[in-house]
Amino acid sequence: MGKKTTHKFKAEVSQLLDILVHSLYTNKEIFLRELVSNASDALEKVRFKTTAEGGEDEVPLEIRIEADKDAGTVTITDTGVGMTRDELMRNIGTIAHSGTAELARMAEEGKESLDSLIGRFGVGFYSVYMVADEVEVTTRSIDPAAAPVAWTSDGRNDYKLQELDDDLPRGTRIVVRLKKDLADQFTNTAHLKSIINKHSNFINFPIHVGEERVNTVTALWREPKFQVTAEQYAEFYKFLTFDSEDPFDTLHTSVDAPVQFNALMFTPATGGDPFGMNRENRGLDLYVRRVLIEKQNKDLLPEYLGFIKGVVDTEDLPLNISRETLQDNILIRKISSTLVKQVLDNLEKIAKDDADRYETFWNAHGTLFKAGYMDFLNKDKFGRLVRFNSSASEDAKGLTSFADYLSRAKEGQKEIYYAYGPSREALGLSPHLEVFRKKGVEVLYLYEPIDEFVMDALRDFDGHALVSAEHADMAALDAFETIEQDAPSEALTEEQKSTLDKLLARIKDVLGDGVTEVKVSRRLSGSPVCLANPDGNVTSSMDKIMRVISKDTSIPKKVLEVNPDHPLLRNMLTIFEKSEDDPFIDQAANQLFESALLLEGYLTDPHALVGRVQDLLTKSSGWYVETKK
Ligand code: ADP
Ligand code: MG
Repeated sequence: MGKKTTHKFKAEVSQLLDILVHSLYTNKEIFLRELVSNASDALEKVRFKTTAEGGEDEVPLEIRIEADKDAGTVTITDTGVGMTRDELMRNIGTIAHSGTAELARMAEEGKESLDSLIGRFGVGFYSVYMVADEVEVTTRSIDPAAAPVAWTSDGRNDYKLQELDDDLPRGTRIVVRLKKDLADQFTNTAHLKSIINKHSNFINFPIHVGEERVNTVTALWREPKFQVTAEQYAEFYKFLTFDSEDPFDTLHTSVDAPVQFNALMFTPATGGDPFGMNRENRGLDLYVRRVLIEKQNKDLLPEYLGFIKGVVDTEDLPLNISRETLQDNILIRKISSTLVKQVLDNLEKIAKDDADRYETFWNAHGTLFKAGYMDFLNKDKFGRLVRFNSSASEDAKGLTSFADYLSRAKEGQKEIYYAYGPSREALGLSPHLEVFRKKGVEVLYLYEPIDEFVMDALRDFDGHALVSAEHADMAALDAFETIEQDAPSEALTEEQKSTLDKLLARIKDVLGDGVTEVKVSRRLSGSPVCLANPDGNVTSSMDKIMRVISKDTSIPKKVLEVNPDHPLLRNMLTIFEKSEDDPFIDQAANQLFESALLLEGYLTDPHALVGRVQDLLTKSSGWYVETKK
């Protein structure tokens, strides 16, 4: 017998244990799910190792659960890889499980209830302390040189380690000394069986409770489709993901060429946090001939389909494939391209059969899915699957496809127009879109920065160019019939027209380098001015993103477009005709320019603008008082 030594838990483990020991969480039975899942992982490692080495294992791969009513213990034994002394210290004593670390951190922050946290994360080995006063782990590593070790702890501050002389079989035995008030419940065999059935039915190895074999051990994905019920799919999905809801969609396929594989892919009903902390939590579990090769493999599906959960099992890969070489394995690439096609075709089918159902999918996973603009090989399919809000939608929730848009397009309309803005309200008032409103031409509304990358990457849909409203060809729009006539304004006389040219030159003088040009607009109807991009530039929203990236805080130089039919411009013209250097012209030019900057989100210092507004208000209220007399 080796000497018994005492070791302190790492700080973050102590913190987590403290939470779990005192937890009032009602669903304590999940401790069994966690211990069984660890046992299963340990068995998978043995199976992976022995099949890779081509050997046969003489010890049966299995999990046994024994309850002892008198002692108040429940014991979980597996014939898996076991642990050496070092591994034991590393795995149970510091935090091994990334979810556990995150759980501890989030519990500390206290923003979410412990119940929902424990429910959502696999809490791993330490969850046993929700039910245990003391736990004893006895383990013998598959490494023949390693001695068996015993680990005990009451889950408070420290744990004890001792090397054993006994000739124990390979694997791990965990004796859980139950808290008094829970002993009856968790030494009841019928109850233990029901817990296994509920949470661990799909474990790949036989689980015995007492003498009885409990789980079914079917690789569901290898069963013929017509034999599997919706309930079985849902049960397997919940086992796989810990989700409590049924999946939104199930896709079960079997392929023979160019590569043989079976796949079972689920779409969850709700989306995760696609770009957040849990972004590594994606991927399909890869099996070769029922042997688990890698959990959550990242090469089978691209990131934008990361919402899909499930398994792939192939006959065609060698069992001794190393996880490192999977990435550039040609067979994996072939499986992957088939899977992507299947997923996209399935989504197209949903969209075609039931638009409401597709909307549900889109609302749950659309944000992540949009990153698929980078998948050039599937550009056409992707283009048929993306959705946007639009000026033709009833509200900000409405979704439109490019095809829907085209079905409503004007006769002869070649382009699909879009505009980026912070909200439906803002876009509804944007001066840039006045001409579209006037002509009744639909504009797709983009609310997320990624939407513009989507448009940029796709470039066209079904032969129709995707064009930002800012860059629309005004001549093309002019050709459409006006549906919303402005109050007609008197046409300018030839003389007024030449004065207007001089007025514009004057405004340019006043604004100096602030603008590249001042010119008559063809897009405005209700607004006096707007800022437009000099030809050929990126859209203003794209420009903003690039400025953030390059930390450029200067104000971009743009074209000031002027609406000569607006009453304010007409008044300026009259004033200018009388006296070319009337200070009102300067004041109005600056005011119009800064208001336009403000609308575009570029005005950093509002002092001058506010000062001018107050001055003008003071004067105009004076005139108002005069005329009301
Ligand atoms: P996770 O399973 O997510 O890694 P756990 O807290 O459940 O986190 O387990 C921590 C680690 O302890 C495991 O990764 C594994 O290395 C080791 N371990 C736990 N139980 C066993 C077991 N029955 N056999 C072998 N190793 C185990
Ligand atoms: Mg675990």
